[in-house]
Amino acid sequence: MPTTKPIQAMIVILSLLSALAPTSHARAEEPVKILTSIKPLALIIEEAFGEIVSVDYLLPPQASPHHYSLKPSDLRKLNQAELFVWVGPGLENFVSGILKNRPSESTLSLLEAMELSSPNLLIHLDESERHSHGHQEVSVHSESAHAEDNNSEHAIDPHLWLSRSIAVAAAQAVGSYLTEHGNDSEAVLGAIGTFAENLTAATQDSGKVDDLHLITYHNAFAYLAVDLKLIITDVVTPQTDVNPGARHIVQLSEKTHSQQTCVIVEPQFNSGLVDKIFRQKGAHIIEVDPMAGEHSSYTEFFNTLLKQLIACRSQIS
Ligand SMILES: [Zn+2]
Repeated sequence: MPTTKPIQAMIVILSLLSALAPTSHARAEEPVKILTSIKPLALIIEEAFGEIVSVDYLLPPQASPHHYSLKPSDLRKLNQAELFVWVGPGLENFVSGILKNRPSESTLSLLEAMELSSPNLLIHLDESERHSHGHQEVSVHSESAHAEDNNSEHAIDPHLWLSRSIAVAAAQAVGSYLTEHGNDSEAVLGAIGTFAENLTAATQDSGKVDDLHLITYHNAFAYLAVDLKLIITDVVTPQTDVNPGARHIVQLSEKTHSQQTCVIVEPQFNSGLVDKIFRQKGAHIIEVDPMAGEHSSYTEFFNTLLKQLIACRSQIS
């Protein structure tokens, strides 16, 4: 059928033109549809770019990214999103499979972006486990839940969003996408600058928690520790899919007594037993939700977290 070929070519050209025209026209007025894997990333992007973007996220904040399966409605959201932003393999494993069908330029892995732009901000898992367990506890963990598949990407601690510098770097990575796709670069850069300034201004008390000792529920707070100069002495459960033994918790709670330590528990994990044992020993417990479930902006989330830590420090000292 020789005659159909030019027609097909013409149709392709026409549909390309018609696809381009409304998009570039719409670009000025319509926000860019961005979907993120988890809520904290959505908060960063929304706060930084405001009306330039329309942001939604996949994982319900009460769920743990380490244990989640996608629903059909999640797939619909993903198909409608212009840009999908996630941390990367090693955290949101629930999403890895379906991303294979997506053009790579419409997906942004923050881990990969950070490895290119600011690898010095990344924490390697062996390093964060050393931070987390102290030196005497090294034998407790055989394998972190994050490091089940051992390739180089997975060897980086994926809880990136708990660092203010990385939150700004994440905004920069999304900003690059926006300017490459027709958004005004001055507006985008200005938005990132304002976000960084607001975040710094809202958390200027951060020096008040220098060297605060912490025990955390799971291995999620190494970036926060670096950012705020905290010292994580122990982790209750290094593997997120294994419940901690009561004896281990008792040992840890005895430590909190002698060493003026705050204990962070997380709503995603059933911490009833942990709470009970720690409270019996008079430990100071704060509940921190690393998934920012209750928060409507990243700055507010980080500011609340900081206030909780400051309050805990004033109780133990
Ligand atoms: Zn985690």
